[in-house]
Amino acid sequence: MTSNVTQPGDIREVAVIGLGLMGSGIAELIARSGRSVDAIEINQGFLDQGMARVRASLDRAVSRGRLTDTARDEILARIRPIDDVATGVAGADLVIEAIPERIELKKTLFAQLDEACRADAILATNTSSLSVTEIAGGTRDPARVAGLHFFNPAPVMKLVEVITTVLTSPETAGTLAGLSRDLGKTPVAVTDRAGFIVNALLLPYLNHAVHLLETAQATREDIDKAATAGLGLPMGPLTLLDLIGLDTCLAVLETLADEFGGTRYVHAPLLRKLCDARLFGRKSGRGFYDYQRKSTAADHELAPVPAEVALIRDRDGRLDELASQITAAGISVVSQPADETGLVIVAADPRHRVLDAALAAGHPADVVGVHFVEAGNGKPGLAELVLPDVTAAATAGRAAALAARIGLNAVTSRDRPGFLLEALAYAQFNDAVRMFQDGYASPADIDTAMMLGCGYPRGPLQMLDEAGAANVVSVLDAMHAATGDPAFTPVPLLAEYATAGTRFRAGAEG
Ligand code: NAD
Repeated sequence: MTSNVTQPGDIREVAVIGLGLMGSGIAELIARSGRSVDAIEINQGFLDQGMARVRASLDRAVSRGRLTDTARDEILARIRPIDDVATGVAGADLVIEAIPERIELKKTLFAQLDEACRADAILATNTSSLSVTEIAGGTRDPARVAGLHFFNPAPVMKLVEVITTVLTSPETAGTLAGLSRDLGKTPVAVTDRAGFIVNALLLPYLNHAVHLLETAQATREDIDKAATAGLGLPMGPLTLLDLIGLDTCLAVLETLADEFGGTRYVHAPLLRKLCDARLFGRKSGRGFYDYQRKSTAADHELAPVPAEVALIRDRDGRLDELASQITAAGISVVSQPADETGLVIVAADPRHRVLDAALAAGHPADVVGVHFVEAGNGKPGLAELVLPDVTAAATAGRAAALAARIGLNAVTSRDRPGFLLEALAYAQFNDAVRMFQDGYASPADIDTAMMLGCGYPRGPLQMLDEAGAANVVSVLDAMHAATGDPAFTPVPLLAEYATAGTRFRAGAEG
């Protein structure tokens, strides 16, 4: 039987199952649109927690002047907390499932919904990565089942991925897309594939950040800062992992690994360890960061600023401005290191090791590479301070002190190709090209999804165009050569575009 509900306006009563991180946000969003919501949980304790989350979110909106007290009370009055699925879904035009990311739980629930829902109700899952087809396949009327994937926080993030299976009716898909627009969202239509657009691109990037942390490439703060200051993202990958929930991220990665295989989706061991320790991120009070303890980021003592710095200039003049900044701070700049210089700065290139320049300078223990990244939009850029492993600890301290003195927005990275920013970003750009190459989504849809689903200032393919495909290919080649990881091999389409000088977003605004 096919759904008769075809207009978003026909959806008046919505049952939201699971009032956790996502379900509470979805319930709030739907109730804000004037619809009634049956909010369903497994017991009273979880219902109370979920409703408290909804109330806290609405209270925040009131305290920011975005909602009146009366409007908040009306929204809350439209949400009916229920601890019994059958009662909660009986009158619903639409059911949105937001229970944990485990296929057997979801299949059991959908079998129950089959019995308890009206025949014309639409059944949607908010799964991030599980097979919607498998969930739908176990129901009597899979034409009315689809994915409706909201992003966290659901009331705020503008993207909704509407996922259809081979069995979903066009009416079901159309109603869900229309409803999404009615809720103020931008729907992107995709077919059923693990991770859809956003998570298939986001999760390997987050996992890569964990890998960089556990291999001591940089501190957690610097990994996060590289993404915010260098790419203009709203938060760094480790902060985002904590926000999404480490258990959810691990589950999504496992699904991606099952579907696609390959090293890019193999979870970093540290992610599993934190989950085993039940450090799931914000929702449990601690993940990569500790949300219970007040920040202990007290000013740690910086090393003394060196009196003299040797700057080994390159032909591109990339260090000219740095030389002026150092001189303006009253520190003398020399072109050749003497024994007492103590800090030698070379221009670092993410395609090459700084070590070679360090050896050429004859002072390997004193050398630090600097790589500047433009942030765009008038924001201060990022300076990556790159330390070969032979750099002395005292030298690293002097470089950090110098960076602080002249006001550089700096992060410190070990000397591995791609450093921090390019390693994280270019590997994701490669994944985005693979998605387009595979015919799953267009460059415009990929960019829209990442901008609206993850708050990217520009989509990954537009950023790739700006960085230059040929440049991205050479950094990826260097990463592949250094690690032997086939995940960093530029995909054929990227290599082809680099050779031909073709842009992925020709015509998109720069
Ligand atoms: P969560 O653990 O915060 O919440 C899940 C809730 O479901 C819990 O409160 C649990 O008590 C409840 N629950 C479990 N079984 C139930 C049942 N049979 N009936 C009713 N309630 C039940 O999880 P979450 O992060 O909100 O994720 C929920 C779903 O949304 C998952 O499929 C996840 O992949 C997806 N999702 C998560 C995010 C995110 O950022 N966390 C983003 C988009 C989608």
